[in-house]
Amino acid sequence: MLELSTPVQYVKGIGPKLAEILAAKGIATVDDLLHYLPFRYEDRLNPRGIAELRPGEMATVIGEVRNSGLFRTRRMPIFQLTVGQGRSRLRCIFFNATYLQGKFEPGQLIALYGKVEEDSRNHELQIVQPQFEILGDAAGVGTGAEKKAAESSLEVGRIVPIYESAGQGRLTSRWFRRIIRGALENLNPDLPESIPTAVRTHLGLISPRQALWQVHWPEAGESLQDLQSARTPAHLRLIFDELFFVELGLELKLRQQKAQTGIAFRLDDRVRAAIKKILPFHPTAAQKRVLKEIASDMEKPYPMRRLLQGDVGSGKTIVSFEAAIIAIENGYQVALMAPTEILAQQHYFSARQILENAGYRIVLLTGSLDSDRKREIRRHIAQGNAQLVIGTHALLEEKIEFAKPGLVIVDEQHRFGVMQRLKLMKKSADLDSSARGAAGQAGVTINRQTALAVEADVLVMTATPIPRTLALTLYGDLDLSVLDQLPPGRTPIVTRRVSDERAPEVWEFVRKQVAAGHQVYVVYPVIEENEETELKAAIKMYRELSGKVFADLKVGLLHGRLDSDLKDQVMRMFQSGELQVLVATTVIEVGVDVPNATAMVIEHAERFGLAQLHQLRGRIGRGAAKSYCILMTGGKVSEDGEKRLDAMVRTSDGFQIAELDLELRGPGEFFGTRQAGMPSFRVANLIRDRQLLEAAKREAAAVIRGPNAEISEVEISRALVDMRSRWQHTYGLVEVG
Ligand code: ADP
Ligand code: MG
Repeated sequence: MLELSTPVQYVKGIGPKLAEILAAKGIATVDDLLHYLPFRYEDRLNPRGIAELRPGEMATVIGEVRNSGLFRTRRMPIFQLTVGQGRSRLRCIFFNATYLQGKFEPGQLIALYGKVEEDSRNHELQIVQPQFEILGDAAGVGTGAEKKAAESSLEVGRIVPIYESAGQGRLTSRWFRRIIRGALENLNPDLPESIPTAVRTHLGLISPRQALWQVHWPEAGESLQDLQSARTPAHLRLIFDELFFVELGLELKLRQQKAQTGIAFRLDDRVRAAIKKILPFHPTAAQKRVLKEIASDMEKPYPMRRLLQGDVGSGKTIVSFEAAIIAIENGYQVALMAPTEILAQQHYFSARQILENAGYRIVLLTGSLDSDRKREIRRHIAQGNAQLVIGTHALLEEKIEFAKPGLVIVDEQHRFGVMQRLKLMKKSADLDSSARGAAGQAGVTINRQTALAVEADVLVMTATPIPRTLALTLYGDLDLSVLDQLPPGRTPIVTRRVSDERAPEVWEFVRKQVAAGHQVYVVYPVIEENEETELKAAIKMYRELSGKVFADLKVGLLHGRLDSDLKDQVMRMFQSGELQVLVATTVIEVGVDVPNATAMVIEHAERFGLAQLHQLRGRIGRGAAKSYCILMTGGKVSEDGEKRLDAMVRTSDGFQIAELDLELRGPGEFFGTRQAGMPSFRVANLIRDRQLLEAAKREAAAVIRGPNAEISEVEISRALVDMRSRWQHTYGLVEVG
């Protein structure tokens, strides 16, 4: 008998070799196998008769192979297959499909699925490139007839699950169907139920055993549409399971954080006055609200873990400076980390403008400083002289001893890779234990890596505008604040798309902007895989623009490979207005803030991702003057490329853009390696299943926050045990205490 935890290798028909192929698909146990869900279903109970087919419909047809063969046309080889039902015939066409030669024999039973079309020449119906499944071998007819009948009961006369194949087509949909069926039949029928009864009743969830059976072998009456959209009771149960245990873990983590001791900063009149003194403008209502949320966290005796989300240009920086003042005025030090050196430098620059007059001591620590200078700065930090330490993630990596760390601010969190965030988490965990160890020895400065001492408050900022429920799951261990308002006086950016054949007009436009006293970015893509050549292109472009097109203007070049002094110098010159045109790679994507820059030309805009285009465009439209974003395209633009450019022209709303981006790339890609701490789901889809996610969050909170008369202690502990094993097994990366 199989248990859910049994390795797949022991499932009948698998064995060690195929188990390896499955492992590559993330299928290690029977549990994984049973959560390998069909990606679609075919109604082979009521397949369409060939005679009733209509052009334009998606149809499943079951028939007999009549004949097949390869034709060579001038353009490409075409494989043609004719399938019959009695007297009706249907033609199927496969382009370039030489591999299909010899695959079909007359008399074979075959199931086809695809879009019915009318051949424009002879008005006959056909299906181009259908998906197909050979249901029986003609050669086998008459031998083992019984076996064949049993098999075909899995293939026809019912709603049939279709699985993605694996191992380069070796493990077909048909193979999965048989193997999963076998596994279900041999599964220990007493599946443990770890969702508390009250939760199941609230939501009307079916049992796990029923769910697993029905998701693979739907009953005849099940709605095909619900199946395809994963809305059957079986789907809902499996998806809920997954989301519930993730939320339970996050909820627990949040609760544990609140049980830790942190710093209770004081927010009295003196501190308030200090904040007021530095503000260069009236904060927006959103900024005020968010600062209140942050300040109230900081006053609490447990460590703050807060995410500040705000679209590009919403004014996150000043809010983080205000938080910094609270910490500094309480006698603590603050670390502010930015993902790029340019951004760190810019923060340093504005921090000095805004904070230094008020007497705060600020240092910049980046990886590229020479070692003497670094040593000196480290000493300042260790002695407590430096109150605000600004840097790149070098702050994470280097051993920096803070005298009295109070607040860590992480800017543009989405730009920190998964590994870096893990490191951040891990370090705090290390510190956690060592801090506890050291607790008895009063007066001992914590430890060497105190940059991220666990007791310090943490404020994470991001411009990725993701829907609230998603944010709460991605960053479920963080509280969320949203800056949903732009500072006043912004005029909407005008975005236009032009072909690069019209470059001369574009350069003329740039010239006009400069003549009006403004500054312009010209952005060139550097795509990571091909950084060298792209970089050359940017440099070449710079030569052309500075040497010819704009020979009379002051043009600068900025890219990631410049040494940091030079980067700094170029950025300063642009900021101070000495440079009129800045040719740059995407190094300027995040955070750069030069309000006098009113136009941005993005070359090869079709090569950029949507989120990236939005971030880039966020560099302009920061002042009162009207701003223009010109998306130049060169050559052929893919279908998705068209959609991205369209969206950019249509809207500058970060939420809308993020939604479309999600749609185009799918959540995996969207959150991909750039988003940290993101569990990968087996059956849930965070976009499709948003409502379930909310339900899961609500129910998990009720369980954890109890006391809840409806849910017994036994059930809670059973759920917790299950949660731990799931987190370990499925979301290996993430740790829960
Ligand atoms: P982001 O949220 O993208 O980091 P920044 O903090 O860089 O945005 O702010 C964008 C621009 O808006 C900056 O030039 C900043 O000085 C300005 N700004 C921020 N808040 C306000 C405000 N309340 N009133 C006017 N300008 C503001
Ligand atoms: Mg910013």
